[in-house]
Amino acid sequence: MNKIEHIGIAIKDAEVSVPLFNKLYHSTPYKTEVVESEQVKTIFYQVGPNKIELLEATSPDSTIAKFIEKKGEGMHHIAYDVTDIYAEMERLKAEGFQFIHEQPKPGADNKLIAFLHPKSTNGVLIELCQERP
Ligand code: ZN
Repeated sequence: MNKIEHIGIAIKDAEVSVPLFNKLYHSTPYKTEVVESEQVKTIFYQVGPNKIELLEATSPDSTIAKFIEKKGEGMHHIAYDVTDIYAEMERLKAEGFQFIHEQPKPGADNKLIAFLHPKSTNGVLIELCQERP
């Protein structure tokens, strides 16, 4: 893994949270993108060298809606940048880690992504992401 690519934060309502994070970071989002397959709206901030992704459910069936129902708003996942997501998934599977999906899929911000199951990572939801060529 190369570095933390971004940190994901689950929010209930962008109309409430965007003004709040604008004040917190003293800036505005550089990008908003709906990922239809995940039923989620993503809102990206650049904070110095770091990226923060706010996640709002676009449907009650979204994993983000379910997450907020169970745990409330807040820290959702940590994403790590990897050079070769397929090779990294093979390596981690061989080490006994479980993935939520067996194959990488398209994510926001032109990435291929895969989530490790938090059961196998001390309760932390971890996303691997690779820039799509
Ligand atoms: Zn993410």
